[in-house]
Amino acid sequence: MPTAMEAALRFDSVDKHFDNGTAALSGLDLSIAPGEFVAVVGPSGCGKSTLLRLASGLDSATGGTVHASGDCVGYVFQDPTLLPWRTVLTNVELPAELAGTGKAERRERALAALRLVGLDGFEKQLPGQLSGGMRMRVSLARALMMQPSLFLFDEPFGALDEITRLRMQEELQRIFAESGFTGLFITHSVTEAVFLAGRVVVMSARPGRVTATFDVPFPHPRPAELRYDPEFGRIAGEVSAALRGGVQ
Ligand code: ADP
Repeated sequence: MPTAMEAALRFDSVDKHFDNGTAALSGLDLSIAPGEFVAVVGPSGCGKSTLLRLASGLDSATGGTVHASGDCVGYVFQDPTLLPWRTVLTNVELPAELAGTGKAERRERALAALRLVGLDGFEKQLPGQLSGGMRMRVSLARALMMQPSLFLFDEPFGALDEITRLRMQEELQRIFAESGFTGLFITHSVTEAVFLAGRVVVMSARPGRVTATFDVPFPHPRPAELRYDPEFGRIAGEVSAALRGGVQ
């Protein structure tokens, strides 16, 4: 496990108890090295979103410590949260606009991010003219243009149809291979976790803690056919067994 100084993100014995008495997390340990992509799977309500809120600094732990290095965090949710009256380009520019970045620089960075997610040519469209997958690409581009050192994903592809979802997974791990950010990705899907991540972490039911971790040794970028590789299937099977409580 990387030390606190080396880690991009580190949770040490983290507890999160809400005021109403709900214990969301208990004694959670997790450390993520710079440039690592970690996926977290666990049952509904086990504290996955809480984990991300603590990682982002939006909320604080009630016990233990959370250490995040770097000052720019990207956050991508299932809902792309685009402003319907702004074009694709000006939606992507928004965080830089709010940060006071000059117009020429923010335009250049937004255009580069849109190229990276495969949306060049769509700059002038409004969100209502786009498919669900394209709106998610805009949301990704908006986070990417701030060049975050740490990227937090809260089930970003959960609302997409199956074909679009697989394509977005392929796009995201290509972008990860090109951009080299540190990623923490929450999902309900075991195959999504294994396809994307270098390490998959399994959480227990509430109060959430880490019950198992699995290394996924395939290099990025990964081909779509990897999903049919026997070794891929073996790892996914072990993660599923751990989720069902078969491995502690
Ligand atoms: P997950 O993302 O794994 O579905 P969450 O992190 O959203 O789980 O929630 C973990 C538990 O904490 C759930 O039981 C949820 O109802 C509870 N919870 C989340 N936020 C709050 C809050 N602000 N106040 C009280 N309970 C909360």
